Amino acid sequence: MKLRLILGDQLSLSVASLTDATKEDLILMCEVRQEATYVKHHKKKIVFLFSGMRHFAQTLVSQGFNVHYVAYDDPKNTGSLRDEVARLTDVYDISEVIVTAPGEYRLLAEMKQWSDALSLPVTIRPDDRFLCTTDKFAAWAKDRKQLRMEHFYREMRRKHAVLMSDDGPIGGKWNYDADNRKSPPQNLKVPDPFQADVDDITQDVIALVAEHFPDHFGDIYPFHFAVTRGAALQALDMFVDERLRLFGDYQDAMVQDEPWMFHSHIGLYLNCGFLTPLECITRAEAAFHDGSAPLNAVEGFVRQILGWREYVRGIYWLKMPNYKAMNVLEAKRPLPEFYWTADTQMNCMRQCITETKQNAYAHHIQRLMVLGNFALIAGLAPAQVNDWYLLVYADAYEWVELPNVSGMILFADGGLLASKPYAASGAYIHKMSNYCESCRYNPSVKNGPKACPFNYLYWDFIDRNAAKLRGNPRMGFAYKGLDRMTDEKRSAIRADTERFFNEIEAYEKG
Ligand SMILES: Cc1cc2nc3c(=O)[nH]c(=O)nc-3n(C[C@H](O)[C@H](O)[C@H](O)COP(=O)(O)OP(=O)(O)OC[C@H]3O[C@@H](n4cnc5c(N)ncnc54)[C@H](O)[C@@H]3O)c2cc1C
Ligand code: SF4
Repeated sequence: MKLRLILGDQLSLSVASLTDATKEDLILMCEVRQEATYVKHHKKKIVFLFSGMRHFAQTLVSQGFNVHYVAYDDPKNTGSLRDEVARLTDVYDISEVIVTAPGEYRLLAEMKQWSDALSLPVTIRPDDRFLCTTDKFAAWAKDRKQLRMEHFYREMRRKHAVLMSDDGPIGGKWNYDADNRKSPPQNLKVPDPFQADVDDITQDVIALVAEHFPDHFGDIYPFHFAVTRGAALQALDMFVDERLRLFGDYQDAMVQDEPWMFHSHIGLYLNCGFLTPLECITRAEAAFHDGSAPLNAVEGFVRQILGWREYVRGIYWLKMPNYKAMNVLEAKRPLPEFYWTADTQMNCMRQCITETKQNAYAHHIQRLMVLGNFALIAGLAPAQVNDWYLLVYADAYEWVELPNVSGMILFADGGLLASKPYAASGAYIHKMSNYCESCRYNPSVKNGPKACPFNYLYWDFIDRNAAKLRGNPRMGFAYKGLDRMTDEKRSAIRADTERFFNEIEAYEKG
């Protein structure tokens, strides 16, 4: 008998390890402590994954498969994937273990040792639920001086014939980013997010998570994520019908108390395997062709999935394991306590952290230009920032989280992923949100106790990293600004920065 191990982010009937499964095989799924706690994942993320796994196991059983499911609180659960496999090999006559490659280097490296440890053939199949294989990405990257997403994206558009006409990209342009930066108007009406039913299985998991993970970050309630493929497809439909039309216009916008905006909220479903990237792209493309969504929205959405998602995965597998240790800017400040408590007077940070805590979700610009921008300009240590992002979001897995954090927000890879650091002062947040209206700081004030901290922290970042960043052609404007500053102005920036961190430290020490 073959043993087929299905991991928590492999909840797809089409996953490589199931393609040739027979009713005689044994399918193993387990909720293990090792994976749930190596970082203390958000409670809602654990509920989502355990409930999704239990529902997926039911689907397999309903199709006649022989499933061995190990619940987290099963007294025999050893807490590790390998030991759970070993436990079954003691009971059944297993000829081979088959698994699809996990999305994390650490676990893949461990699985490569399993064959010796278990004295059994262990076959690790490539995960083919992506549109670009890791080999194809490596071939694309080979001999290129710069690995720019835009170039990769155009090739993917051509290869998969997405939004293409005979003459090139539909509409004549590859990229409508410039149209996708509208500030939010007053009284913008945002539709409610998808609300899945909470059934008995999810209720049981909620009770289990409340009991076993009380010290993990985040709120369990309200819980409305889809936990089956069917419900995830409904969430996708709802996005296309209600939000996609304005996805482009307000892609970068942030509004007080509106965590969901016009984003799709499907990242967690794509990453756990409920949805495939191609079906999301096809659905959005159809909305363009039937006239229900404009090109700037559909192209913007397609670029995220066909471009960014595939690209960051390619970078991860191309550059690991060294990528994780990179810290080119030598940032070392510890993560402030307010990333856990939201107890800060910076309203933008307070909003984004509070929403993260409530929803295990923040949209891209909150992650990038508020939480990430602060981490960059404050010089927070990459390892701590990565741990935070990996555990707080329901869609976070290392293959996608790490390049976004170390590459896109922290510039810790020295510009492999982003051509320049995404550093910005308070003016950006003021333009793209209404957060500043409810803040004790003022985005127009540059120095002193009333000044928006993003203003002096931005210039302190530019000044502090001059030796490393001055030569970057895209940073010329910033360094011209710095060079025009008087010595007094530079001293004021340094003094404000020092005062700001002293105040945080004193506050955190009580
Ligand atoms: C610092 C930081 C950390 C991030 N961590 C994660 C993470 O752990 N997991 C994750 O899936 N995404 C991550 N992202 C990317 C992006 O923010 C999320 O995919 C997105 O916010 C999920 O919400 P959504 O489904 O509403 O996305 P939408 O805005 O509706 O976008 C549609 C889809 O495009 C894909 N996508 C968009 N941007 C990216 C990107 N930069 N990288 C990869 N895929 C992208 C996602 O699958 C997403 O669901 C991170 C971004 C930043 C800046
Ligand atoms: S003033 Fe500064 S700290 Fe306050 S919300 Fe605006 S950008 Fe954030």
